[in-house]
Amino acid sequence: MGNKVKLAVNGGIGFGAKLNLKQLMTISKHMDMEGEIELTTFQQLYIEIQEDKKDEVIKEFESVGLKCYPVGDYVKSLRTCNFCKGEEREGMPVAKELNRRIAGKPVPFTLKVAYTGCPIGCGESMLSDIGVMKYKDHYNLYVGGKAKGRDAEVGTLLRENLTPEELYDTVEKVIATYTENGKKREPFYKFLKRLGKEHLLS
Ligand code: SF4
Repeated sequence: MGNKVKLAVNGGIGFGAKLNLKQLMTISKHMDMEGEIELTTFQQLYIEIQEDKKDEVIKEFESVGLKCYPVGDYVKSLRTCNFCKGEEREGMPVAKELNRRIAGKPVPFTLKVAYTGCPIGCGESMLSDIGVMKYKDHYNLYVGGKAKGRDAEVGTLLRENLTPEELYDTVEKVIATYTENGKKREPFYKFLKRLGKEHLLS
């Protein structure tokens, strides 16, 4: 048996966090009877696959619509709301594009980014390192949320009323600042406290 490597997998951004039977069967083909799938809180499944087959497994997964991401100190795939009020109204294409631009980028410590399509129902974006909330036709950007521990905190507003292009640029800039200035294994919320929110985009 060769080395195993962990892979994060999900069905991509859509209504809810769903997988179909074909996708489940394709995943199970690459597991042995003792194998386990880890269900994370971040809409990703972790599975272990043979390292020497990684590229072909990813290709096969992608052929049935699965999305694959690295596990570790990378930007995670966007955790999204369920888009209960509709794809366009809640900005699903913007969430997809943002995910395409940032997910899987190496960072000092695992970075969680969340997206919610309206300001009423879901609040995950307030509790993530970076959170996007669609408000009417624009996007508000929050930073520094922390969902874990006794010192859990909601994020604070960094920018509001952004267009999609402004949103992509701003998020990419925040991530670049963290990548360039964060210490190895320094969580984003600690980095933000050390740096000061006002320096994130300067
Ligand atoms: S954020 Fe709004 S649109 Fe998205 S699932 Fe929650 S209530 Fe529905």
